Amino acid sequence: MEFSSKLLENAVYEMSQLPGIGKRTALRLVLHLLKRPETQTAQLSKALTALREDICFCSNCHNISDQELCEICSNPKRDEATVCVVEDIRDVMAIENTGQFVGHYHVLGGKISPIEGVGPQDLSIAQLVAKVKTGKVNELIFALSATMEGDTTNFYIYKQLQGIEVKTSTIARGIPVGDELEYADEVTLGRSIVNRIPFEGSLRIS
Ligand SMILES: [Zn+2]
Repeated sequence: MEFSSKLLENAVYEMSQLPGIGKRTALRLVLHLLKRPETQTAQLSKALTALREDICFCSNCHNISDQELCEICSNPKRDEATVCVVEDIRDVMAIENTGQFVGHYHVLGGKISPIEGVGPQDLSIAQLVAKVKTGKVNELIFALSATMEGDTTNFYIYKQLQGIEVKTSTIARGIPVGDELEYADEVTLGRSIVNRIPFEGSLRIS
């Protein structure tokens, strides 16, 4: 890509460093910003700079937070004895959206992945084990994605907890409501069978 302006080239280059943004998309976004009022670009830069400078991670659950303790951990109505182990903030948001969970979270910051060079020491696993060792946690719910990395991470944590009294569970991998059983992938289907719940419990009165 030939640029008539070094400033334009730099902006496009920086934008194209983002995931899923190729050079063409980057150019489109940069040209869009140039067409918009200057204040819009200023607000964007300000928000990004503030994000990097002021963001912190909750000292208890490691979720992205504005304070030392996040809103969930500092809410007295939440049950700190039930801890849901997730990969990142997107999972916290997804589970919070269901409105079904009143416990705490523990955000690992990723999954163990030898291919991507992510080991247990890169994640907040030691902090999780330390938290369980305090005796304040009754149950850990593993809610990592159903992938090889997710399963490896669950198993690694599970092994670390040997000898510590804590109940562990994993979320049931259900068949999406309305989907035909035959369209479910075998892992989903298999886990749904293994994690079956009593039929009466599955009945919903509408
Ligand atoms: Zn927290």
